[in-house]
Amino acid sequence: MLRSLFRAAAGSARLERLVESTPGSKEMAKRFVAGGDAEGALRTVRGLTDDGLAVSLDHLGPESGTPERARAVRDEYVALLSRLRDAGLTPAAEVSVKLSALGQLIDEKTAYEHARAICSAAAEAGTTVTLAAEEHTTTDATLETLVELRREFPSTGAVLQAYLRRTEGDCRELATAGSRVRLCKGAYAEPESVAFQSSLDVDKSYVRCLNILMAGEGYPMVATHDPRLIAIAEDRARWFDRGPGEFEFQLLYGVRPEEQARLAAGGHTVRVYLPYGRQWYGYLMHRLAERPANVALFARAVSSRK
Ligand SMILES: Cc1cc2nc3c(=O)[nH]c(=O)nc-3n(C[C@H](O)[C@H](O)[C@H](O)COP(=O)(O)OP(=O)(O)OC[C@H]3O[C@@H](n4cnc5c(N)ncnc54)[C@H](O)[C@@H]3O)c2cc1C
Repeated sequence: MLRSLFRAAAGSARLERLVESTPGSKEMAKRFVAGGDAEGALRTVRGLTDDGLAVSLDHLGPESGTPERARAVRDEYVALLSRLRDAGLTPAAEVSVKLSALGQLIDEKTAYEHARAICSAAAEAGTTVTLAAEEHTTTDATLETLVELRREFPSTGAVLQAYLRRTEGDCRELATAGSRVRLCKGAYAEPESVAFQSSLDVDKSYVRCLNILMAGEGYPMVATHDPRLIAIAEDRARWFDRGPGEFEFQLLYGVRPEEQARLAAGGHTVRVYLPYGRQWYGYLMHRLAERPANVALFARAVSSRK
């Protein structure tokens, strides 16, 4: 109920204006977002890498837009990658890219060309790109783009969502040598026809998918904050004899930082997903949807006048 309320709020332009103009909510957003621009993001990346963490940067922009916006997103990533390289922050920092922000819903071919330009800038900077997973209606197109990009840039990462019924099959397809696959639960409201609805079924699917990825030849990226799933992943890594460089954990910036530090101290590769950009509202609403405890924090933040 709360989850769908915040998911609906994420799409409301009126609420967006209201929340963005509240100083307290800006403070709240800082907990999860690195800052409004690349400058602030780079500072946060430096702090995280100094702590021994890897990073995946996500530029928060419109989910779908005009061709001009898509070009602007491409240019933002290309410039960011060159700054990361100049600052000596690659390969520890890579980027996560949403194809919808590159115009996938307007013209798939152009979105592919923009993604290719970003992959090429990443290769020059000595790092990688991971293609985010979005609504299930885009999964086939995104995986087709992934296959195309991997012909030239084999290290391009995929994201698979455990809540989708199809994902076990996709894990089998993608568990090949050198294939970087981020496994997450999934963040969108999806119909029963394509997605498991109960958290138990999603968790069970996550474990089945994890088993396939860990047993396979690729590079699993275990993206979850769930203590039980993290413990299962540690267990499977031991079982399949995977050392620290053979899989990684990924958690969102601002979520369970003590767990991020614990895993890194245990010798694991830990990558922090770090969003930055002015359009933080939708991202913040998704984080609130995931965790009722954050809602109380948010309520305090927006009611604060400071
Ligand atoms: C690196 C990364 C990349 C992602 N990329 C995508 C993507 O491309 N597409 C997509 O659809 N989704 C993506 N997601 C989001 C993902 O699908 C989930 O919506 C999100 O991670 C919440 O799921 P969870 O696995 O943490 O489990 P949840 O079911 O949300 O939480 C499980 C448990 O984790 C603990 N926990 C969770 N949050 C907190 C918190 N704030 N503080 C303390 N404990 C907490 C609690 O014990 C909770 O019961 C990504 C997530 C990560 C971490």
